[in-house]
Amino acid sequence: MKNDIVTLTIDDIGTNGEGIGKADGYTLFVKDVVVGDIIKAKIIKEKKNYGYGKLLAIIKESKNRVISKCTVAKQCGGCQIQHMNYQSQLQYKQNLVKGNLEKIGGLKDIEVLPVIGMDTPYHYRNKAQYPVGIDKEGKVVIGFYAKRTHCIIDNTDCKIGSPTNQTILEIIRKYIIEQNISIYDEESHQGILRHILIRNGYHTGEIMVCLVINGTKLPYCEKLIQELVSISGMTSIMLNINKDKTNVILGKECKTLWGQAYITDSICDITYEISPLSFFQINPIQTEKLYKKVLEFAQLTGKETVWDLYCGIGTISLLMATNAKKVYGVEVVSEAIEDARNNAKRNNFNNVEFFVGKAEVVVPQFYEEVSRKVMDGNEEAMQSLNPDVVVVDPPRKGCEDILLDVIVKMSPKKIVYVSCDSATLARDLKYLVSRGYEVMRVQPVDQFCHTVHVETVCLLSKLNVEHYIEVELSLDEMDLTAAESKATYEEIKAYVKEKTGLQVSNLYIAQVKRKCGIVERVNYNLPKSEDSRQPKCPPEKEKAIIEALRHFWMI
Ligand code: SAH
Repeated sequence: MKNDIVTLTIDDIGTNGEGIGKADGYTLFVKDVVVGDIIKAKIIKEKKNYGYGKLLAIIKESKNRVISKCTVAKQCGGCQIQHMNYQSQLQYKQNLVKGNLEKIGGLKDIEVLPVIGMDTPYHYRNKAQYPVGIDKEGKVVIGFYAKRTHCIIDNTDCKIGSPTNQTILEIIRKYIIEQNISIYDEESHQGILRHILIRNGYHTGEIMVCLVINGTKLPYCEKLIQELVSISGMTSIMLNINKDKTNVILGKECKTLWGQAYITDSICDITYEISPLSFFQINPIQTEKLYKKVLEFAQLTGKETVWDLYCGIGTISLLMATNAKKVYGVEVVSEAIEDARNNAKRNNFNNVEFFVGKAEVVVPQFYEEVSRKVMDGNEEAMQSLNPDVVVVDPPRKGCEDILLDVIVKMSPKKIVYVSCDSATLARDLKYLVSRGYEVMRVQPVDQFCHTVHVETVCLLSKLNVEHYIEVELSLDEMDLTAAESKATYEEIKAYVKEKTGLQVSNLYIAQVKRKCGIVERVNYNLPKSEDSRQPKCPPEKEKAIIEALRHFWMI
């Protein structure tokens, strides 16, 4: 009953970090607890089968509980599980991924590898954005928004940000007070200073400070610059103009106050220019571990064609390009693609090509258009349609079905799925498994320590044709259905015969369909290897079959 005070043991943690326990058989969700805690809670919301409780007291602390390093961890919306010891955090994240793969993906017997964690899971973020405000007493506050509010909790000592941030922020606070700088007020849309963005280059030690202002000039900024440049590593001091009445932090325009307009950093020895607006992975140590897994899963030898979908500034694309023949990257943010192209140039890559647009639009369009070129026997076009590896790294909502569908048609031997949401990952894996792929490896990586988020890199392989193939199999014996092929083999044969007078075999049709990226059922489509002794479709017959496939709208 609502307002009842109950005692319960926490025996699980939910997807948002909330503790789960039973009080007299009734399931309660309670925040700020860990597995093993015995607690007293007040029921604050009651539903038929479960309710929400407010933690009143911890009767017996779990051995998994630690004292948060951050004194405002509970109020701040950033770290949801800092009170859980790190080993338990990793275990929780492994269970989360496993649970989602089972429940949402229906993938019961898949091993989820232990989460790759950090040796020191603090001060890992290379980017921080601090809102600036005035509290009720008129004091300047710089810190973070409290959970689901726009109330700023004063805190310049964030335990997951860079330690120098505190020095920078205190210099700015002193400047605001001494120079009487007006602070932006969301309600009235008045005041100048809105946010402070700080970026750090992990390998280079370079620092960028960017002040987000509601205006075009920051008064007396020379004084501020003078102080900031004394900090070792200071490379770039910028203004970002945001005059919009919005809670989007950054505006589109940037001005350089001092130094460069960007800092540089590297990931796996490839260097990048990072401007205030660039997307860049926020945990550099774990990003390298994550990317190395992507590379390990892709098993490149230098001959491969690779697609990197949702490529951002091309970090995975370039890493792949170090050991692939050709890499194609797709990303919806045009500025990110501009960065990607510059990064490719900067690092002397000439085997990458980038496309701007939604992956679910660009890739199907590309597939349609290039299918036509394939008819002219364009070798590169053929390989782009039938890549060896496709990497996807979508935002939380995962991939659209239309994209997964075209990936399946492209028939890559491997798909490497990098996910920041294991629920949508599970949904998409289920789809890919139903279309002939097998989940080979699931490796979570802890990119966001102390939060409930977990990154997962997953390897899928096209079902191993070597186990199924019978090279000598007469293709006439196969039971093709309309679901697998828009036109049956007989229809294609009849069309070719009528148009050209040529006789073509099922084997030739299968070969050409594969060349055009049409997926066949796994047990009959492929020769074991390129040098197996199958007759190869002669060019004039290939041309005729392609005409037929076009006629039936199959390519
Ligand atoms: N692979 C990159 C970026 C991953 S973040 C890296 O490791 O740094 C996901 C990226 O997907 C973002 O850059 C986002 O802008 C982009 N994105 C979001 N929706 C997209 C879509 N529908 N098509 C293509 N890119 C998209």
